[in-house]
Amino acid sequence: MNDGRPVPRVEVDLGRIYANACVLRGRLAQRGMDITAVLKATLGSPEVAKTVLAAGIRTLADSRIENVETLRASGITTPITLIRTPMLTQVDRVVRHVDLSCNTEVDVISALSRAARRINRSHRVMLMVELGDLREGILPEDLPEIVRMVRRMPNIIVAGIGANLACRSGVVPDVVNMKVLSSLAKAMHVESDTARHVLVSGGNSANIDWALGCADTGLINDLRLGEALLLGRNPLDRMPVDGLHVDAFTLVAEVIESKRKPTMPWGHRAQNAAGDTPMIPDRGDVQQAILAIGRQDMDPDDLLAPADIRLHGASSDHLIVESASRRLAVGEEIRFIPGYNALLRLMTSPHVGKVYSDGSQIRHPELPPASIPMSRYSHTIAADAA
Ligand SMILES: *Cc1c(COP(=O)(O)O)cnc(C)c1O
Repeated sequence: MNDGRPVPRVEVDLGRIYANACVLRGRLAQRGMDITAVLKATLGSPEVAKTVLAAGIRTLADSRIENVETLRASGITTPITLIRTPMLTQVDRVVRHVDLSCNTEVDVISALSRAARRINRSHRVMLMVELGDLREGILPEDLPEIVRMVRRMPNIIVAGIGANLACRSGVVPDVVNMKVLSSLAKAMHVESDTARHVLVSGGNSANIDWALGCADTGLINDLRLGEALLLGRNPLDRMPVDGLHVDAFTLVAEVIESKRKPTMPWGHRAQNAAGDTPMIPDRGDVQQAILAIGRQDMDPDDLLAPADIRLHGASSDHLIVESASRRLAVGEEIRFIPGYNALLRLMTSPHVGKVYSDGSQIRHPELPPASIPMSRYSHTIAADAA
C-alpha cells in the first residue's frame, strides 16, 4: 500500500505550478505587469522557486527572512523581495539576503540604511501605501514627505511603491483605488531626479480580476502572487481562476481507525478540543474513520475532500471523516486538496512530509465540481455535519 514515502505528506506537482506560472505570466505581460512569486505558503521552497523561475518569473518574494535564507542557502541568486516590513532585530539579515524590502516605517528604513552601510551595500525599499484595507501602509497624504526623508538616507534606494488590499478587511482592488496608486507613482516619477524605473506593485492575487479585466492598468507594473500561482484561486471568492490548476498540492493522510459508530455522542457534553459545542443531529450509525493528522498540521475547515468523504472536524492530532459508500481500511491513504490556510500549516509542520515531482506520478483526487469555491464547500460540510 505504501512504498516508503512519508505519511502524512504533501505531494507537490511542480508541473502544475509551472503551468500556472506560464499562464499567469503570459496574461499579465500583455497588461504590462511582471509577477513577483510569493513563496511564503511553501515555507520558501527552493523546488517551487526553481519551478517558477523556469517559467520565466524573475523575482521571488517571502514574508519571512528565515524563508529567504532557505532560498539563498539552496543557491538561488535571483532578486528576492521581503514583503513584510522588517523587524528592527533582523535588519542585518535583511540587507544581506534581500534585494528589496516592503516598508512603512522611517525608523526601520533608517536602521536598514545603517545596516547596509556597515556591509557597504545599497538596499532597495518599496514604500507600501494604505489604500483602505487597513493592514500595512503609509497614508497617501504622508507619502511625499516620507519619500523625501528616505531618499536622503545613505545606502537606501527608493525603488517604488506598492499596496496590499483584501487581506485584512476584504477591500477589493478596483479601478478607483488602483488609480490612486498610479497617481502617487506618477508624482514620484515627476519628483525623481533620475529617470529610474519606478516599481509600482499593485497588490496580491486579489488583484487578478482587476488586472485582467480593467481597461487601463495605469502605471502598475508588478503583482505579488501567491495563492493564484500555487492554488489557482482568486482570494476574493476562492473560485478557480480560468485555465489554472487548483490541485498542484495534494495532502495524503492515513486511516488509523475505521469503525461503524453512532452519530450521537453520549454522556454530559461541554466544549470540545477546538472550543466549540457542536449541534449533532442523530443520523443513526455511520462509517467513521480517523486519519492521523490534526490541527497542528492543517486547517480542517480548509480542505477539499473526495466526493464520497465528509469531514467532521479535527482535534490536534485526529481528523475525523465519514465515508458514505464504503468502510475505509486501516492503513488506507486518503487524498485531499488543501486551501491556502491549510497549505500554510501543512508546509510548516515538521510532521508532514513534502514530496516534489513533475506530477506524472501523482494520483490527483477526484474533485467535486471545480466551480465550487473552497470556502463555500467547507461551509457546506460544516452545515451538513451540524
Ligand atoms: C501574502 C502576501 C502576498 C501574496 O498574497 P496572495 O493572495 O497569496 O497572492 C502579497 N503581498 C503581501 C504584502 C503579502 O503579505
